[in-house]
Amino acid sequence: MPFLSIQNLNKYYPITESQHFHALKDINLSFDKGELVSIIGESGSGKSTLMNVLGGLDLTFDGDILVDGENLGQFSEKELVRFHKEKIGFIFQSFNLVSHLSVLDNVTLAMTLSNVDKQTRNDRAMEVLEHLGLKDHYKKKPSQLSGGQKQRVAIARALVNDPDIIIADEPTGALDSQTSDQVLDIIQDIAKTGKLVIMVTHSDRVASRSSRIVTIDDGAIIKDEDRRTKEEDTDTFKLTKQERNKNLSLVAAIRMALLNMKEKMGRNILIALGGSIGIMSVILMLALGRGVNDYLTDTMNENVNPLISEARMTEETQRDSGAESETETADEPTERGPGQFAANNPAVQLSQTIPFEQDNIEELRDIPHVEEIELAYTSFSVGSDTVVYEEDTHPFMNFGTISASMTQSNILHGAFPESNEVLITEEMAENMMDEASDMIGEEVEVKLRVDGDALSGFYTVSGIYTAGNAIGPASAFDSVFMTMDTFIEMTEENDVTIEPNLAYLHAEDPSHSQSIKEELSALGYGGSSTDTLAATFTQLLDIFTYILSGVAAISLFVSAIMILTVLYISVVERTQEIGVIKAIGGRNKDIRRIFVSESFLIGLFSGLLGIGIASLLAFIGNIAVNNLFGTTILHITPLYALFGVLASVIISMIAGVFPANKAARLDPIEALRHD
Ligand code: ADP
Ligand code: MG
Repeated sequence: MPFLSIQNLNKYYPITESQHFHALKDINLSFDKGELVSIIGESGSGKSTLMNVLGGLDLTFDGDILVDGENLGQFSEKELVRFHKEKIGFIFQSFNLVSHLSVLDNVTLAMTLSNVDKQTRNDRAMEVLEHLGLKDHYKKKPSQLSGGQKQRVAIARALVNDPDIIIADEPTGALDSQTSDQVLDIIQDIAKTGKLVIMVTHSDRVASRSSRIVTIDDGAIIKDEDRRTKEEDTDTFKLTKQERNKNLSLVAAIRMALLNMKEKMGRNILIALGGSIGIMSVILMLALGRGVNDYLTDTMNENVNPLISEARMTEETQRDSGAESETETADEPTERGPGQFAANNPAVQLSQTIPFEQDNIEELRDIPHVEEIELAYTSFSVGSDTVVYEEDTHPFMNFGTISASMTQSNILHGAFPESNEVLITEEMAENMMDEASDMIGEEVEVKLRVDGDALSGFYTVSGIYTAGNAIGPASAFDSVFMTMDTFIEMTEENDVTIEPNLAYLHAEDPSHSQSIKEELSALGYGGSSTDTLAATFTQLLDIFTYILSGVAAISLFVSAIMILTVLYISVVERTQEIGVIKAIGGRNKDIRRIFVSESFLIGLFSGLLGIGIASLLAFIGNIAVNNLFGTTILHITPLYALFGVLASVIISMIAGVFPANKAARLDPIEALRHD
């Protein structure tokens, strides 16, 4: 039985829905191993069409092609891949070497696709290269070789898998006559080792060196001339068969993607830069949110006793308690009037002092987890409250009684005030004495004006107050603090009645503070100025975060489109390479894998670059903010960095799926014709 047998082969190319072009007409041919067959014929006579069908690149034919007894037309996808990998080798007129791979990598490509280990791969390739006189050129890129050398590399690539059949479509078409002869010598040798070589040629001189000349005209065989001599098989060069049933490994796919990316380094750096902008925005956004949150938490914990919640009266709570309201009744629905506004606006709220009623105090006491209620007084004035020291008058804005809500960190020098003592702010102390701490122990006169009543008394300065880096407005104002008892004594001495207007609610446990604050707000009470300000600040931050998220989303989208475009371009650029990979037994899956690896790498590099730039910007930004405000505001955590890289990789790979599929679906014949 002949090794390759073609029976009643017909091939039609579809032209329109109803029309077909009859390219191969009833072809019957048989070939044996060891033959060197030349197919000759006019241009357009169907030579390439026949080669593509025989090579298993084109399966849309009628008739039977039996290879070693097996019917090519009935191969499963797996069998076809095996056929390409083990049975057949291609040599093309235009060489079709992969330009970004070295000579060695071009020759080993088929074995890489079969996941043959590196040592075996290279040993085998070097053996073939040496045989073809290319031993010294294995590191070169195809562009550094002459035409004859390129074709010899292509022959090496076809031979390295030790196929039974070599299909060569005009292998000497692009070579001068001297190099043609060298290449033909090699091809003749190949046939002598017992392989079937089928070669398309235009040249009679080339054809004359073959053992059989088949002439094709207008798709039909018109002449079949057997010129075989009784020559012995010399078997000059023989490779051992090896088991190859594995597929392209992920590592190899990534390495191939890397080699290609290295070739287009400049472009890939630009893509990574573009892609990194989105990731950078995401990371900076997260870092800013985290930084501000850290800052707020730190500040709160530092300056505010976590057990304490502040409550202030508002117009709303005053109405609700049903007291002193002539125009409105208690059961009237609560309007969102100025009182509501006041509750949410620290500036307005501070200027109001509404005293607590007994009802209010009971209501506060009923809030779950409140252990104790401490009543206090605070007032806010512009110019009417003063401290007199050594005949100089120092106005201040904020008067208050101290409570457990102050912490030791608020005391810069000295101690909390006790009976008949006051705490004054650092700036006030500095106005009175060169060194703020020297004011401790000095006696000052405090003069207050409350609702038209004047109060005054002499007190000893116990300490210097600082707001630290609290965000509360108190930090910005000159303040005087004393104990509630001292304040009550002061009102009694001055014959004035003043009700407490501030309540400190002690929680049983710090974990209850949040629910107490929420309950206070639900009941309509105002919180501490610090809480209110922090809430406002958080709201602002939320808006800012939304804007940043928008920017980040847009830039991520843009980079996805960019990666998509670039990979599409890459598919077009690499069409020929894809054709070669398919011809030597690369599966669609392998090609997809190579392209997806490339998008994975682009995503990885973009992500890493994004982290790098974000870290740099955060570093610079933090230095700037630190100089201005003594704190840092951009906190990049490893989790955010990881998230950034993951997002980048995922987006990039999603963008890469479409081009990768396009590449995988390319028709190998079209792809090989592409240049
Ligand atoms: P050769 O290699 O002998 O020059 P081809 O095998 O390339 O010839 O082409 C044989 C004939 O088939 C030509 O007339 C050509 O126009 C036609 N042909 C080749 N490829 C296609 C195709 N994809 N669709 C339609 N017709 C085709
Ligand atoms: Mg042709």
